[in-house]
Order: sequence, then C-alpha cells, then structure tokens
Amino acid sequence: MIKIMTKIIKALLCAIVGTSLASCDSLMESQIKDRLTESQANQAAMMSSENMQVILLGTGGPLSNETRDSTGTAIIAGGEFIMVDVGPGIVKNMNLSGLPAGKISALFLTHFHSDHITEMGELDFMTWAQGRDKKLEVYGPEGVEQVVAGFNTAYAFDSSYRTAHHTEEWMPSKNSGMVANTLTIPDPEEAVPFFDRNGLKASVFQVDHSPVKPAVGYRFEYRGNVVVISGDTVKTETLPKFARGADLFLCEALNKEMVMMISRIAGELNNPRLSRQMHDVTDYHMSPVDAAEIAQEAGVKKLILAHVVPPVENFIAKRIYLRGTDDAFDGEIILGQDRARFELEPKN
Ligand SMILES: [Zn+2]
Ligand SMILES: [Zn+2]
Repeated sequence: MIKIMTKIIKALLCAIVGTSLASCDSLMESQIKDRLTESQANQAAMMSSENMQVILLGTGGPLSNETRDSTGTAIIAGGEFIMVDVGPGIVKNMNLSGLPAGKISALFLTHFHSDHITEMGELDFMTWAQGRDKKLEVYGPEGVEQVVAGFNTAYAFDSSYRTAHHTEEWMPSKNSGMVANTLTIPDPEEAVPFFDRNGLKASVFQVDHSPVKPAVGYRFEYRGNVVVISGDTVKTETLPKFARGADLFLCEALNKEMVMMISRIAGELNNPRLSRQMHDVTDYHMSPVDAAEIAQEAGVKKLILAHVVPPVENFIAKRIYLRGTDDAFDGEIILGQDRARFELEPKN
C-alpha cells in the first residue's frame, strides 16, 4: 500500500511540478518492471492453467466499429494456444489481452473472407517475434495453401530485414512464415477430427456460407468441456449435431431486419452501392433467433453471439438485435464483447 502511494505521489510530482528528471526516470523504470513482471506471470498462468480458456478477440463483422473488431477467437487449453480466424484488429486485441503470442500452436481458418484472414501476416510476424519456435501452422479448408503462400510472399522482405537486424540467433529465419495444412471433409454429415495435443482435441465440420465454398466450423474438446465455433453460415440441418452439448457455442448472427433497415435508408439517401451491399449480405448468414434455435436443439449451455452484424453498441440497438432470442433458447445468451474471457473448469 505504501509502495503504491509513493508511486502515485511521485507520478503527481512528475506531472504537476516537473520535478527532477531522474525521479521521473525511476518511476518509469519501476512501471516497466511491474508491467513486464505481471505480463510474464499472466502468460505463464494461462499456459499452465487447468481450465479451458476462451477469449473473444473480435466480435464485429466486416462492419466493425470503435468497440468491435472482427473476427477472431483464442482457445487456450493444456498448454496449447489456438487462434481461430484473424481479421482486422485481432492481433492488437491479442496483445492488449496479454496472450502468450510466442506460444501459439496453430491458426485455424473458417473461410477466406477478408474479415477472417486480414492479419495473418501480422500474426505470423508477432508470434515469431515473441519467440515462436517453428513456422506457424495454419489449418483451413481447401484453398488455404494459396492464401498462406500469398501472405508468405508479402512478408518475405519484412522477415529478411528482421533476421538481418536482430541476427539468426534471435529471429531465426527457419521459424518465420506459415505452413498450410488443408482440411478435407469427405462426408458433410460428419465432423472430422484433425488435432489432438495435450488433451486438446479439435474437429472440423462443413457449414453453408455460399457462394463461399468451402466454409467450416470447429468443435474443441478438453477435459470434458466442449466449445464450438460456427464459422459464417446460414442455419443448416447439421449444425445442431456439430454443436451438440457444447458448454459454449460461439455463433455468428446477422440481424436481417436491422441490416435491411440500413439498406433501405442508404437507398433513400441516394447511396445505391451501400444499399445493394447491405441487401446482399443478408442471404448467407443466420439471424440471432436462428442461432438461438440451433442452441436449443443442440442442448448447448451458453450461446455466445460472437460475429455481430450490424456491430450494435447502444442499449436500444442491442435489444433490437436480440429480439426474440429469449423465446427460442432456454439457456444463457451472451452478446459477445471484444476481449471478453470465459473459463471452463475441467470436468475430468
Ligand atoms: Zn465473417
Ligand atoms: Zn464470411
């Protein structure tokens, strides 16, 4: 307590009186030391935790705003750290959330829309700079090789500069860049297991985001807990099966009435381009009520709306966005927020 008070007094003196620079320097030194110590301790705790941890890193859609970036989720369990999708703003939120970037195990992609892949190069760089000890493994549906190759090409110069500057010892070129792993789904009725490390298992399943093909979702299991990420999709017959019994079901949802309202008003304001785009996006997503109905059918415990279109912020917009969902689902519905964390204690 005395230590904190001393720091506050020193900070005030620095700010108001412009006291000696030496005293300001010592304050800054102790702040840097505190922050680094805390961040290292937090990262170690996340990696050694018994809990399955889920961190929402971007809950908007292509229409992000001041409080919603899009799109990405971190899953940390058993010392494995998986990132699912990495759209604009996700790497910033990963750093602000203090996640152990250098310990990343893999990136899983649901599809190749820009709001899900924009920061692949940045994620590759940032996790390499923070000590990743191999190339970044990227899993995704067919086409992932082309996307990964493109980002690798775009970041090749940057990577070579970093190694030249910091030396092979600290920025080894062999660990820079990404490696693509293509996931194939022979039977659209079945989820395909493809990842099993330190008790964290993942399977991939097909969804319907036409004309975006293929598009997939992921089901994670760790010590009796289940987390399912829908990816971008319309309501399908198979989704309740893939989400069956999930403790957390992270689902996309676009409120069609709200988006059509934007479309109509844009048209009235002589903005036909925006009007047409808004009109078009309504046909390849599900509504919040669709998501709630799937959650009900699948018997999930918590439904988290994690890809929120439009990116509602104020109280009235949130109420309109969620209209009807309570009637469709008996469990808890959470309107996702960027950097929200969920912890699941082990069941076995
Ligand atoms: Zn999307
Ligand atoms: Zn999409």
